[in-house]
Amino acid sequence: MISLGIESTAHTFGIGIVEDRMVLANVKNLYTTKSGGLIPVKLGEHHIEICDVVLRGALAKAGIKLKDIDIVTFSISPGLAHSLRIGATVAKTLALRLKKPLIGVNHCIAHLEVVRLCFPDCKDPILLYVSGANTQVIAYDGGKYRIFGETLDIGVGNFLDSFARHLGLGFPGGPKIEELAKKSTNYIELPYSVKGMDVSFGGLLTNLKTKFGKYKTEDLAYSMQETVFAMLVEVAERALAHCEKNELVIGGGVGCNKRLQEMCRLMCEDRNAKFYCPENQFLVDNGAMIAWTGLLMYKGGVSIKVEDAWIRPYERTDDVEVTWR
Ligand code: AMP
Ligand code: MG
Repeated sequence: MISLGIESTAHTFGIGIVEDRMVLANVKNLYTTKSGGLIPVKLGEHHIEICDVVLRGALAKAGIKLKDIDIVTFSISPGLAHSLRIGATVAKTLALRLKKPLIGVNHCIAHLEVVRLCFPDCKDPILLYVSGANTQVIAYDGGKYRIFGETLDIGVGNFLDSFARHLGLGFPGGPKIEELAKKSTNYIELPYSVKGMDVSFGGLLTNLKTKFGKYKTEDLAYSMQETVFAMLVEVAERALAHCEKNELVIGGGVGCNKRLQEMCRLMCEDRNAKFYCPENQFLVDNGAMIAWTGLLMYKGGVSIKVEDAWIRPYERTDDVEVTWR
């Protein structure tokens, strides 16, 4: 069975094609800026402009034709309405034209499911989901994907991007900060904000802005990474202990950061847990994770009528009925 998956929750417009457990294509186009942040209306325009190019690219990479597709899946939630709407419209159009089932996928759950696709021995992990808009610790428990901890304000990626913007680095800022941080080992004390299972970044961002100009930017970048990643690893570890699980996976663009990966790996080694980190193409927002999760959902009896397929920008992970596990 061939599943086509469309990702469009934020800056990435991606299309993945999955046949059974094989990823045939995972093509994407990213909205970026040289300076300034992400403007939702411009983002929508970007996705409209490139959606057909990405679709043709994915079909060519997979070596299939539109008529070969058995199901059409798309990210229905959560995300920015301006971008979600474009992916949903393309998906609905394809489903109508091809007369194929349509499946709306929760983006956060797809980040976890794709790691289980990449690592078949990974059965029941805790997901540390660290992306632009989202920062959550998620695990399957009592029949649902539940959120055990999360950010109380902004997502860690947005935090990194805001700090990078302040430094004049452009969007996305995370990779640029990672490079900058490699130039320092000089730790400057910063606020550490873990509240129970939750984290927050707003106060830290304000604090960093007051330090900007008084310290070397590479020292700030290094200290910021050490502080923020320690906060994330702390809540991930507590979730492992609380849920009595012994597998940690990482998802989301910030997961590409090598220092964060190293800290996760060390924590897992210390407590005899396994750490699974997929290739970057499956960490960042991508269509393959949607195609794969949509396929699992379809096999679990889930599909949606075109007329009911309204985007759900604010859907929570634990709102989703899980019928495929
Ligand atoms: P996502 O929303 O999952 O696609 O992730 C996008 C976020 O990941 C953006 O905020 C980026 O700045 C961030 N990001 C990408 N690569 C890195 C990296 N190497 N280190 C830290 N953050 C990163
Ligand atoms: Mg994401």
